[in-house]
Amino acid sequence: MMKGLLTAVVLFAIATGAQAQQKKKALFVIVDGIAADVIEQQPTPNLDRIAKEGGFTRAHVGGEKGGYSQTPTISAVGYNSLLTGTWVNKHNVWDNDIAAPDYNYWTIFRFFKTQYPQKKTAIFSSWLDNRTKLVGEGLPATGGIQLDYHFDGLELDTLQYPHDKKKEYMHRIDEAVVNKAAEYIKQDAPDLSWVYLEYTDDMGHRYGDSPEFHEAIGYMDKQMGRLWDAISYRKKAFKEDWVIYITTDHGRDSATGKGHGGQSNRERSTWIVTNAKKLNNYFKTGNPGIVDIMPSIANFLGVTIPREQLMEVDGVPLSGNISATHPGAKLENGKIKVSWKSTGRKGNAKIWLTTTNQFKEGGRDQYVLKATVPLASETAEIDVTGIPSKFYKIVIETPEHYLNRWIVVK
Ligand SMILES: [Zn+2]
Repeated sequence: MMKGLLTAVVLFAIATGAQAQQKKKALFVIVDGIAADVIEQQPTPNLDRIAKEGGFTRAHVGGEKGGYSQTPTISAVGYNSLLTGTWVNKHNVWDNDIAAPDYNYWTIFRFFKTQYPQKKTAIFSSWLDNRTKLVGEGLPATGGIQLDYHFDGLELDTLQYPHDKKKEYMHRIDEAVVNKAAEYIKQDAPDLSWVYLEYTDDMGHRYGDSPEFHEAIGYMDKQMGRLWDAISYRKKAFKEDWVIYITTDHGRDSATGKGHGGQSNRERSTWIVTNAKKLNNYFKTGNPGIVDIMPSIANFLGVTIPREQLMEVDGVPLSGNISATHPGAKLENGKIKVSWKSTGRKGNAKIWLTTTNQFKEGGRDQYVLKATVPLASETAEIDVTGIPSKFYKIVIETPEHYLNRWIVVK
């Protein structure tokens, strides 16, 4: 009896110990240019089996339509919104030239590597610039960040991948990228990795809404299945705790499906598939943005984003408890009316205000606490007659995270 009890206690201790040490690993995937209505209409059995463990939601890119954060629905712009958790008014990547990214808005890779230099990162990509320009590997402005592994740049190898007019070579490159990613995940299980695939967008541009585009989505779904199989293998064989986020960087125009870049509903419409646990109501019904993926991954991996940087992040986590969403701020007659949507959690909202934006130059902003009100009130009013300015930065501090808004007086 006694011996049996002891054994049970020891077994319990081993079991809980193993759980506490379970290694967390995150993979995010961008598959290019697939509007929400398209993904919903095409058969995607592999995305479905991933979503079955977590969820599928419609989402958006493009920032606030007509507002200060309005963001072109263009590829590299969207990728950088995912990487930094901010819209273009901050990260400053306006098109695929990637002329002058503002590296003061850190990527998830930089946050992760700064806190966990010994942990492993990887990029598998059909576009070289993602590593060299967006993540900014080796650049002084990114602190010289280094990834532990990369597989990219195949589009520059015109011997192995001669550039044909129909862009079949991009499908072959995507295949090589996915196969390498699946193999590497199986063997080396990087702690944080990014897979980027391009062919779907190529078919969209060339054929628009068409059998060719839909066929490309079928290929993509099979590719996601191979990544998921690799993850499932690690989960089973090594008892690792994996999260995957799959999304797209923009939708397509309504007329033909060939274009994107503008602010129509269809160009702004995207989606997210994930196996993440405890997805919150904001994920399910809030039409989340691409900027929400970065803080979600950070939370999962135990990345602590320093307060001043977190106050700049435009997204909130898609799983676990959050206090508020949908921040607003309006200046009228010397008063700023701040608003948000409460999720029903207890506690207060603290409203911080500054009239500077030193952060974007690498400096610090001096915030002043202007109000503390219950979250449930969903609004606060700040008198700014004594601090006239053409620019205000407002941060709503909640018990679980921050929301922020700018006011830009034209
Ligand atoms: Zn794109």
